[in-house]
Amino acid sequence: MDVDSTAEELASALGVDKQEVKADLEALLEFDVPLEEAAQSVRRKHGGSSGGSTTPDTLEIASITTEQSSVNVTVRVLTQGTRTIRYQGDDQTIREGKLADESGTISYTAWQDFGFEAGDSLVIGNAGVREWEGSPELNLGQSTTVSMADETVDVDNPVGGDSDLIDLAPGDRGRNLAVTVQEVESRTIDGRDGETTILSGVLADETARLPFTDWNPHPDIDEGASVRIEDVYVREFRGSPSVNLSEFSTVSPLSESVAVADSAPQLSIREAVDNGGLFDVEILGNVLEVRDGSGLIERCPECGRVLQNGQCRTHGDVEGEDDLRIKAIVDDGTASVTAIVGTDLTKEIYGDDIAAAKEAAREAMDKEVVAETIREKLVGGAYRVRGSLSVDEYGANLNVQEFEAAGDDPAERATAVLAEVRQ
Ligand SMILES: [Zn+2]
Repeated sequence: MDVDSTAEELASALGVDKQEVKADLEALLEFDVPLEEAAQSVRRKHGGSSGGSTTPDTLEIASITTEQSSVNVTVRVLTQGTRTIRYQGDDQTIREGKLADESGTISYTAWQDFGFEAGDSLVIGNAGVREWEGSPELNLGQSTTVSMADETVDVDNPVGGDSDLIDLAPGDRGRNLAVTVQEVESRTIDGRDGETTILSGVLADETARLPFTDWNPHPDIDEGASVRIEDVYVREFRGSPSVNLSEFSTVSPLSESVAVADSAPQLSIREAVDNGGLFDVEILGNVLEVRDGSGLIERCPECGRVLQNGQCRTHGDVEGEDDLRIKAIVDDGTASVTAIVGTDLTKEIYGDDIAAAKEAAREAMDKEVVAETIREKLVGGAYRVRGSLSVDEYGANLNVQEFEAAGDDPAERATAVLAEVRQ
């Protein structure tokens, strides 16, 4: 179903001009109204009945395709998340999650509150089908009927949304977590309703660490606290899943603290890069090169960017602040990344502080001596590097948290190879 064919169908059913119908539809689509809902609004505007013209088929989930405009299903509700979206200038509360039957699972969006919960078995009549990220999704709207099924629908999938961090993927909704808040900071941002305060930081459990944003700060989100969080949704942030809390999320303190993973998953660089990014990953590789822009550098005091010939890209001619950093190319035979090492770790690797680096540069009358010293220490060596990987059109960058000589420990090598084989 596309806009054009829907407009044509509506125009002939309602006896009105196709261009007018199409303009109405497009206006609604701009507000993220699904096509099915938009078509119903346009039908009502022109005095047609809001129901579809054909009787939908009753189908198993696995048989639903975007070819159908609407279907009847008997399903179990796996998850239900609540979220507010802006719809034609007003805030509208929607419910979203996953439904399942014995044949499979499907995402849904409910545009009104039908009163069902995760775990309920339902008979749903006349649910609209739309395409969402390449897969069919069910839309429950004004013309949809929802009633409890006589019998529990058997499903193979976990019901209720309780999840480990490692299992979260972008697009997940209505998930519940038991986590420790590892880092949290408060920020003021320009929201759609003016300035608003949000929290962001890092959540951890035994399986993984992930970044989070709390759009409606909850007081129990506190550094070091172990909490149960219900009803979060997951988005992609720099290629890795990111947990989002909304006004509908609930946070309750846990009496026992949640254990936290102290190691990151170890992957080959190829696997990590192919993943599109990872918030916390460990790689094992050789430093092939210490790139230009390493060693003693100058940063803009306003924005922190590294100055090029004394100039900031944004702020022009500024009095630079001295800093130390390393941009090293690390390769493990499968692929390479640029490891970006910050001030503190660079001091450790260099073996001295910024003042000493400046002194060395003064003596040699060349800043490059600092990068040269670092080059001599690193290039050719094997290192275990842990950090946040982001991948964009310019390449793969690993923001380094830990940087250690891998040594010749055969056990460590074996672990690396195993991690590669297991994926
Ligand atoms: Zn600047």
